[in-house]
Amino acid sequence: MEQAKVRLYVDQPLAPGQAVALNGDQAHYLFAVMRLAVGARVALFNGRDGEWQARIAEAGKRGGIALCEECSAPLRLPPDLWLMFAPIKKARTDFIVEKAVELGAARILPVQTRHTNSERIRQDRLQAHAVEAAEQCAATYVPEVADLVALDRLLRDWPADRRILWADEGARGMGSIAHPTETGPWAILIGPEGGFSEDERKRLRAMPQVVPVTLGPRILRADTAAVAALTLWQAALGDWR
Ligand code: SAM
Repeated sequence: MEQAKVRLYVDQPLAPGQAVALNGDQAHYLFAVMRLAVGARVALFNGRDGEWQARIAEAGKRGGIALCEECSAPLRLPPDLWLMFAPIKKARTDFIVEKAVELGAARILPVQTRHTNSERIRQDRLQAHAVEAAEQCAATYVPEVADLVALDRLLRDWPADRRILWADEGARGMGSIAHPTETGPWAILIGPEGGFSEDERKRLRAMPQVVPVTLGPRILRADTAAVAALTLWQAALGDWR
């Protein structure tokens, strides 16, 4: 089967013979930027039905139609791993979202901590960033990027069965990296540039779901720490094994 070079996320059902309407932005990307024309192949995915090879049937300036032909990859869900992180500067926050998608997080939750720099995020922009990352890394699933939520509030209703791999800068230099061993739902928690407050640290230490880990003897930037923790978890318990 000749594989399409361009992959596109669409929020529509995908099935044999299904006509998929392309919006103005998608038409601009496919027909103006990528120079595809009627008859060209494009790979489509919607986060539910796997990846489909489709053929362009109509190509206009403000829209188009693609017709699904065959399924080229099944839906591959990432492991049940959430990434919680305190948003930092825009470019570094974008980087965290992009890498979380590539490394296989199932849900991304920006959290407001005592020392978080920003009080607002553009959730729609970060979600679009996650879509773009999924399009580029052959993922068939796009993790939800949640709106900013206070860490306190999130921890108040925290599910009893979801463990938290807490990247704890306070554990630095205290010996070897702890490797998570228990299977089941997990979340990773990365703090802001200013680290966690004493109250937050106390709260986290008191939760039975929390597993504090060191990421080595040096202080990592939050974006580096997110990548390191995702890698550590994926290698120990995730879909890299
Ligand atoms: N201001 C903090 C300090 O001086 O210790 C550093 C915060 S660090 C830039 C941002 C976040 O990355 C931390 O809150 C933590 O979650 C994670 N982090 C960075 N280095 C780490 C390490 N060596 N071990 C565990 N977590 C680390």
